[in-house]
Amino acid sequence: MKRFRVTALALSPVVIPVEGFITGSSFRGALAYQYLRSNGFPDPNKDELFQRAFVKERLLAAPLYPGHSVLPLTSLSCKRNPGFRRGGSSGPHGVIDLLWSKIADAPRPNSCPVCGQDLKGLHGFYSENTQQKPFTVLETHVGIDRVSRTSADGVLYTLHTLEPGEKLYGVVYVLDDDLEPLLAERVYCGAEKTRGRGLLRLTWEEEQIPTEEERQNAWLSWNEELRIRISDNKEDFYFTLTLDSETIIVDRFLRPSTDPADAVSWLPKCHPGAQKSFGRGTLRFITGASQSQLIKGWNSAHGLPKEQDIATGRGSVFCYSFQGDDTDLAALIHELYILELEGMGLRRGEGFGRLSISSPFHAAFSEVR
Ligand SMILES: [Zn+2]
Repeated sequence: MKRFRVTALALSPVVIPVEGFITGSSFRGALAYQYLRSNGFPDPNKDELFQRAFVKERLLAAPLYPGHSVLPLTSLSCKRNPGFRRGGSSGPHGVIDLLWSKIADAPRPNSCPVCGQDLKGLHGFYSENTQQKPFTVLETHVGIDRVSRTSADGVLYTLHTLEPGEKLYGVVYVLDDDLEPLLAERVYCGAEKTRGRGLLRLTWEEEQIPTEEERQNAWLSWNEELRIRISDNKEDFYFTLTLDSETIIVDRFLRPSTDPADAVSWLPKCHPGAQKSFGRGTLRFITGASQSQLIKGWNSAHGLPKEQDIATGRGSVFCYSFQGDDTDLAALIHELYILELEGMGLRRGEGFGRLSISSPFHAAFSEVR
């Protein structure tokens, strides 16, 4: 398994959804099309490499976001002057993450410590403590009647486009090393490709996948730092799942669900007081913040709309605790390591179901910064 950070530079205007990023499904389709095109359009049903990468999902594409990371739904900022603090007294009034005070049952901050105005949820993307918003324009077009070549009645439409020069970022996993040549240098992505829209230049950088020991050390120090703040502490280990992309979960009757327990059998249900045995120890659900989102899409190969799914939104956070002995804790950490690497839920080849365990964001922004 190899992990690559991809930077996509827009070389022409790129039509993107109103959410302001390229979906993993769309990016995967662009890579698949580029592979077929550069190989003289072989029959995808008979091409072994194509089947393995895009049908058997051995290449896990990712959404391309305007920042390196997603802001968790627990992050807040000043209503009047939102954003990460920069040096000096002018500029945004800082960001605070509520998760740790929720876990510790500490009083929740209500107002901005700088100006006293209300705090409001800060959503979207960030890179290196700066909120990232792509520079986009809204273009209005008139549909053309194919016969008369004049404007068609009732066909006025708008396109939300990313301007040339803007950059988007993602992380792609290649599960078989021989699929690496499929990581193209240029792709066309999004709508209106036949008019030259959607050209992206891709830069790939291989990233070392951290070892289980490295992740364990990071999670244990995150837990120790949190436990210091909790006065009446009976739990041994706290961890969170923070969703880095939309996650499609279904329960055992195939109904849409926003509970990670329906995707990961050893987790307790996410409602207050829920608990489940893990080895000789106990896992408990502590708190969370989540929202659901409707996933739509277009299947270019079939020329039909994709099936709609209800997903748990990116930035959703679920916090759990564990009480038990060291052997079971080691087993739990191993399960968490696998979960973070593999993600959870359906359609992971399209970049759904990515998550971070005990994201350092919750520790770094537990106080206003
Ligand atoms: Zn303020």
